[in-house]
Amino acid sequence: KATAMSGTEPEDEEDELGDEIDAKAMLQRELQDQRKTLPVYKFRDELLKAIAEHQIIIVVGETGSGKTTQIPQYLHEAGYTANGRRIACTQPRRVAAMSVAARVAQEMGVKLGHEVGYSIRFEDCTSEKTAVKYMTDGMLLREFLGEPDLASYGVVIVDEAHERSVSTDILLGLVKDVARFRPDLKLLISSATLNADKLSDFFDMAPVFKIPGRRYKVDIHYTAAPEADYVDAAVATVLQLHVTQPPGGDILLFLTGQEEIETVEEILRRRTRGLGTRIAELVICPIYANLPTELQAKIFEPAPPGARKVVLATNIAETSLTIDGISYVVDTGFCKVKSYSPRTGAESLLVQPISKASAAQRAGRSGRTGPGKCFRLFTEHSYREDMADETVPEIQRSNLASVVLSLKALGVNDLVGFDFVDPPASEALLRALEDLFALGALNSRGELTKTGRRMAELPLDPMLAKAVVASERYGCSEEVLTVASMLSAGNAVFYRPRDRALLADAARQRFSAGGDHVALLNVYTEWEQSGHSAQWCADHFVQPRTMRRARDVREQLAALMERVEIERRSCSSGDLDAVRKAITAGFFRNTAQRRRDGLYRTIKTWRTVLVHPSSGMARLDPPPRWVVYHELVETSNEYMRQVTEIKPEWQLEVAPHYYQENNLDAPEPKKAKAHGQGAAVAVEKQSPSLNGFFNV
Ligand code: ADP
Ligand code: MG
Repeated sequence: KATAMSGTEPEDEEDELGDEIDAKAMLQRELQDQRKTLPVYKFRDELLKAIAEHQIIIVVGETGSGKTTQIPQYLHEAGYTANGRRIACTQPRRVAAMSVAARVAQEMGVKLGHEVGYSIRFEDCTSEKTAVKYMTDGMLLREFLGEPDLASYGVVIVDEAHERSVSTDILLGLVKDVARFRPDLKLLISSATLNADKLSDFFDMAPVFKIPGRRYKVDIHYTAAPEADYVDAAVATVLQLHVTQPPGGDILLFLTGQEEIETVEEILRRRTRGLGTRIAELVICPIYANLPTELQAKIFEPAPPGARKVVLATNIAETSLTIDGISYVVDTGFCKVKSYSPRTGAESLLVQPISKASAAQRAGRSGRTGPGKCFRLFTEHSYREDMADETVPEIQRSNLASVVLSLKALGVNDLVGFDFVDPPASEALLRALEDLFALGALNSRGELTKTGRRMAELPLDPMLAKAVVASERYGCSEEVLTVASMLSAGNAVFYRPRDRALLADAARQRFSAGGDHVALLNVYTEWEQSGHSAQWCADHFVQPRTMRRARDVREQLAALMERVEIERRSCSSGDLDAVRKAITAGFFRNTAQRRRDGLYRTIKTWRTVLVHPSSGMARLDPPPRWVVYHELVETSNEYMRQVTEIKPEWQLEVAPHYYQENNLDAPEPKKAKAHGQGAAVAVEKQSPSLNGFFNV
């Protein structure tokens, strides 16, 4: 007990505690009042009644009407979780899953991870208690592997179905099947747009429940002439809006990706600094997939009185996240789109015009709480002529190897017969089967092998999963586990401050001999040896956040490796060839050879590729003759990212069924100019008879 000298203090403390409780209660009341203002609230009972009567329902409602945050709570309140089964609500985007879960935990007055939690790849924030679980669609897909009947769930909500991500599309097929043999399972498919008929058809004419949205008028402005540089135009428009428009009313600017957002953020900071004190403050809030968690909440905080907020977003803010208080939308008209060529196997992210449907969604973000304005940084002509009506579903423009591997692991052997909302191109399916066959994940009859089964358990791209599985054979599973974790940590490992760029380059180069994969391994090992020191990171221009994440990922991957019984072994420290061989065992298809003209050509498809400037291999002299790369990125050129030097004879060792001795060093075929033709025949060993294999 406190002594005499603090006679009055205990009382004060009690008061403070009391105040805190009051503040909490007030916040709760406010949140509960807010919940009641959402459009979905008026339909609560009607919706619950419909769910009680039907097993499957399609829910359609304007973005921001409360579908994602409210419906799971209604079901929880109505007792759907009382039997110990959970409610799953899937999101195509990681950030949305995390942010919505945080909001719902707050509304329910519980700690995130207790009654309400989320699960995303390499991050499980749930517990025994968790009744409402937000998760990425990809995570639910993985859960099918361990629990094909989804027995732990009483309700599955496939949210944001209009986004049509690959995982969502596969989920739709799988849950439809589960619903047939689990009559107690409730299924809600929720979508922001009105093309719900297609979904209703898919689910055998399931009823559509419409939540009428509030929608105010939005004035749409186009530019008179095409913009030469949409980033410049975007900055100018934001600044002009800020300076000329009355206070109140925030701005939402749509850009294409993290780098662009960071650039715009920097320019806006610089330019607003010069505006002086007579202009209101502009609070700049970026949001993109890899934004660190602690900064994500900032976009939802109202700007301080008198200030204006500008949110710089990717199309994550198109429908996945709703930010209140937006009066102005500035739309560059572009987004990054994944595309895939089954012929060459190249997947790329390209900046492309959005669809008309996207443009309408973006504009609508400004008219939620009052009349809005949308400034389109493109011409009306370009809107009409250059923009497609709808975005092509991702499943029709993606590499399907990973999905096919999961489906095979789930026992779905007849891929063509699988119930797709929109089927992928058959060439893409065949290509995926071929790739998995080359990796040894499938046998020539298209059945999953033991290797394939192990690969499917790892939440990694099949090529990387194969490298991890192969590492056992080369006695370096600890090292390859580290490389895989670093590659999966999501963010850049190194940073390069402008004023110390040369020092940063030198620091990085020190790790790089032998290739970028080995560099990742070296960085991690030294960081461990430093005792995870922040100072070590600062000295070597390494991002501490990425390292901490890599450590988390590593722990989880290690547990999964144990589950599939991959022996944990470390190679003697000098034997980096073992590590590089294991990497080659996964990435042998991504081999490039430096030709006499000094340029690299991919070995199968004869594409001319460059080493990405961020690679430690970009400055090697002489450059290595043979390399494997992690991925190709296409900007002005095609660049190989994460490059490692290999010996060509390794190819024969790691993929004897794929390469033959005499064709590794084959002269370039005459037809080489016709990108990717002929060469494949010259280099690729004739596939064994694929009878039955193509019996997809
Ligand atoms: P829908 O799914 O229909 O688009 P949501 O349930 O996501 O709608 O959003 C309902 C409301 O909850 C919105 O007004 C939004 O501003 C608010 N909200 C959602 N997530 C958060 C968050 N992380 N922080 C603050 N408010 C949020
Ligand atoms: Mg939603």
